[in-house]
Amino acid sequence: MRAADLEYRRATLDMVVVAAQEDLGGLWRSLLTDDVERAAMGLREAVPAVVEVYGQTAAGNAAVWYEDVRPAGAGTFRPEPYVPASLPEAVGRTTWAVTPLFSGDAEGAWTRLAGTVQKIVMDHDRVTVEENVTKDPAAFGWRRRASADACAYCAYMAVVLDQPDYETAAKKYHDDCNCEPVMAFHGDTIPAQPNEGPWLATFEKAREAIAEERVRLPGWNTMRRGARIKNYPEYQLNTKNILARARRLEPDLFRDGVRAAA
Ligand SMILES: [Zn+2]
Repeated sequence: MRAADLEYRRATLDMVVVAAQEDLGGLWRSLLTDDVERAAMGLREAVPAVVEVYGQTAAGNAAVWYEDVRPAGAGTFRPEPYVPASLPEAVGRTTWAVTPLFSGDAEGAWTRLAGTVQKIVMDHDRVTVEENVTKDPAAFGWRRRASADACAYCAYMAVVLDQPDYETAAKKYHDDCNCEPVMAFHGDTIPAQPNEGPWLATFEKAREAIAEERVRLPGWNTMRRGARIKNYPEYQLNTKNILARARRLEPDLFRDGVRAAA
């Protein structure tokens, strides 16, 4: 697979996402003149319909793209479009998204609505790749690919593959997340993940920093495991703590990097 194949998939998907957001945006502007209760009700009807229609397009495009990038000589396989688990959650997610409206924060509500639409439409593309991989004899798996400006969580999911239950963890996509699963075919390669080297080095550095510091904490060496967890939760070597440390170690490498106060 070439990097250009991924760029094409992404450009096509972005157009569908933007079209869905613009479609909802038109309705949004007309609803804003209504009272809040009626606007919220209208959105709870409109969002599921919008994401279903544009999601179908995204899933259909993903299936066509999948077929196009299968290696020559891989044998016949017809990729099918799939529906993500987030589609039936559209009403619930909209209820959450419109809550800022009730405190007069229309901008906040729109940010959430646009993010909800982005996620559910993109999930159609993601699940289509993930599901077809499990059925296609030419494919042996997928890995998550993040954009170069990803947040620390997404960067971690894209480059740290030896974690317990990787598949479940790596299928968690947040609103406005740019990550996508990329399938791996026998005898083919996946284009390099942007920032893979610096990200991996930073996560390793974060893990080492926590491991080094914690042995010097008061009482650490004489505490039992349970007491260590209770007294020093932020010194456990888990994903959450490694990410928090990485964000501070290299704030410029992650969208949600944390700069020390000057
Ligand atoms: Zn992401």
